[in-house]
Amino acid sequence: MRVQFLGITGSIQHAHSGNVSLLISHAGTKILVDISGSPVQNLALCEVDPLDVTHLLLTHSHVDHLYGLPSLLHQLWLMGRTSEFVIMGNHVTIKKARQLCAVFSLEEKKGMFPLIWKNLDEEIQFVQCKSLGLDLFPVTHGIPTFGCLFTSEQGTIAYLADTAPMKEYPPMIQNPSLLIHEAGGVDSERETLNGKGHSSALQAAKVAEYLHAERLFLCHLPEQENIYPDMLAEARHVFPLTDIPEVFQVYEV
Ligand SMILES: [Zn+2]
Ligand SMILES: [Zn+2]
Repeated sequence: MRVQFLGITGSIQHAHSGNVSLLISHAGTKILVDISGSPVQNLALCEVDPLDVTHLLLTHSHVDHLYGLPSLLHQLWLMGRTSEFVIMGNHVTIKKARQLCAVFSLEEKKGMFPLIWKNLDEEIQFVQCKSLGLDLFPVTHGIPTFGCLFTSEQGTIAYLADTAPMKEYPPMIQNPSLLIHEAGGVDSERETLNGKGHSSALQAAKVAEYLHAERLFLCHLPEQENIYPDMLAEARHVFPLTDIPEVFQVYEV
């Protein structure tokens, strides 16, 4: 299983990255998680053919996680896609996603490839996505938001999407090969971050330690890149195997 980041920032982008979005690939299954920026360009920078993407998981309905969808679908249609494309999300997110596509009448395009909308209840559940297992579970973000766990024969990747520290964590995400956790700043900003449904770098590291993760990646980062070294330092104090991923780079799990 491999993961590539199409973007690592939170709501505000900076010169070196767009909003957080990731691609999980395994044996012909390619799942995009959230969709922002210039998705087709970003997939090209990942050296991935956009026509090969099989699924899209939308974690929640905030604009930075959703706004790239019409552009992706329009370009896939222009590129001549014929195979189905599965889009998963909770009810409010799927409703907004379809509204966004309706603005451009994308579903009515002549010869539009099949769009399979999976409108999921906000609860713990398992979805098999071809060769990848996908566990979904609610996280703590003020609006309905899915965290997710990807499972292959090689290992597991847990991504908690946008979240403040949770009161309890679903048992299946213990011992992940890789934990991807948001971090909106350093721990001195903790109260403000938690109040907005986000976490500090130190809190992300404590979650990694609690879950016995093998490795931690921080994402949904603030626009001030100059505080990344301080965020990494406070996280590594608790969980040494913490990194900020490079956009587009391949990470094997
Ligand atoms: Zn966000
Ligand atoms: Zn959000």
